[in-house]
Amino acid sequence: MAKRKKQAPDPQKSLDTFSKNRSRGRPGVRKLEIAGRGYHYRLLFGGIWEWAGEKLLQAKTEEDVLTALENQGDYRQGLLPVASLIPKVTSDPKFPQGSEAQINFLADSLAGLGFVSFRRSRDICGQARAKQKKKTKYKIIRREYYIECTCGYKGPARDNACRKCGAEIPFYFGVIEGLGFR
Ligand SMILES: [Zn+2]
Repeated sequence: MAKRKKQAPDPQKSLDTFSKNRSRGRPGVRKLEIAGRGYHYRLLFGGIWEWAGEKLLQAKTEEDVLTALENQGDYRQGLLPVASLIPKVTSDPKFPQGSEAQINFLADSLAGLGFVSFRRSRDICGQARAKQKKKTKYKIIRREYYIECTCGYKGPARDNACRKCGAEIPFYFGVIEGLGFR
């Protein structure tokens, strides 16, 4: 904030700085932010759905939303930035049936705080989840060590042995390093 103010006297410079910032990684960061917020909202709505879900679904205005969260200061505070958006999401013809689907739809739609379309916000959250899923789909089933062999070879082992001469890594190496029992 302070930085922006300082640059203000030179509009050209501040403009350049802005566009540069924008083109360098910023959309990626924003996507992460949105996906993270979607996750957070899923947890939040999941926690209040039992007592607030029906009221939130029926809310037609920001005021209705805030009324639904009355006496629940923390939730009210947490949902304040999106309170006016909630009725717009729930009135979407594609708004799903079933609590879980509704919570997810609402959370992901709101994650962009209205700066991107609800649809886009859901896409970003969906992509991030798919990526995360892919990330954890595989597991490491093999581990090789960096070795130095008296044959002169230095580098990664293969199948627990020297890649050049086939000398096996002595069992006690693993024991000593505490790696043998993992
Ligand atoms: Zn060797």
